[in-house]
Amino acid sequence: MKYQIGSGLVSGKERIILYARGKYIDVLTVLSDARLIEALSLHQAKPASLMQMMQHWTYWRVKLSSIVEYWSGYSEQARQQSQLGADDIHWLPPLMYPNKLICLGANYNDHNAEMDNIKPPKFPYCFLKPPTTTLVGSGETVLLPEYAKMIDWEVELAVVIGQRVRNVRGEAAMASIAGYSILNDISARDWVPKEEHSYFGLDWVMSKDFDGAAPMGPFITPAEFVQTPQALTLTLTVNGQVKQHANTASMVFSIQEIIEHLTTIMTLEPGDIIATGTPSGVGYGRKPPEFLRPGDHMVAEIEGLGRLETVMK
Ligand code: MG
Repeated sequence: MKYQIGSGLVSGKERIILYARGKYIDVLTVLSDARLIEALSLHQAKPASLMQMMQHWTYWRVKLSSIVEYWSGYSEQARQQSQLGADDIHWLPPLMYPNKLICLGANYNDHNAEMDNIKPPKFPYCFLKPPTTTLVGSGETVLLPEYAKMIDWEVELAVVIGQRVRNVRGEAAMASIAGYSILNDISARDWVPKEEHSYFGLDWVMSKDFDGAAPMGPFITPAEFVQTPQALTLTLTVNGQVKQHANTASMVFSIQEIIEHLTTIMTLEPGDIIATGTPSGVGYGRKPPEFLRPGDHMVAEIEGLGRLETVMK
């Protein structure tokens, strides 16, 4: 049975939240049921966070499926005890916090064309965002940074790594993925290729790393429920108007190629996030260009993964 998993504050406390059969389930409440622990042979220590769970993903991936099945068999009353109302959840980024948040630039040709005709890179072109200060959950308000005026949206498929891997190839690269999520790579276009920047290149820190610049979630959808990650529709709306509408089939470098490339450079660890680049339709490429203003409401959606909402202030 399909389930998705995220992190949220409920009455001020951090909870791991399962979403299955249209219901939100408090994992820690379910895990305090002695009969369930016995029935499912749950011998790992109770995790305090989804990030901790991710460190033993091979174990928890299977157990979470069993927990959903077992929970479905509860009486209506028992189910309600561990069920959460959608309005009671203040979403956090699904993982707090990954060691790395790696982002791909220029990974869709239609986006490269709208960005002053950037030449497609010969290898996956990457940059980093600081996880602890850029990641925020769905429904969060993000402050427009004072130093920039050209703040823009970028819906992206996020890949979550579930194993420690180095130099992986082929199917092993895909097998290292725990799941998928939605990430909005909010960017300050004030730092785009211009003559005066040519000696130093671009300042990607000013462009990409301000606080709240990576809304993510609300869930991670385990890889087993995403049969065709390379054929998913992505959409982003601003105040209800569709700005981006594309498909992950158009990536320049596939998810497998990105993981192969990255693991020739560094070890990827459980919980690491890779944002795989954005398609066309960003504000910078529009005629005339459009940028985010206070009060703007973005909704980023990816087929089967959910809906990520962000308000700018
Ligand atoms: Mg991006």
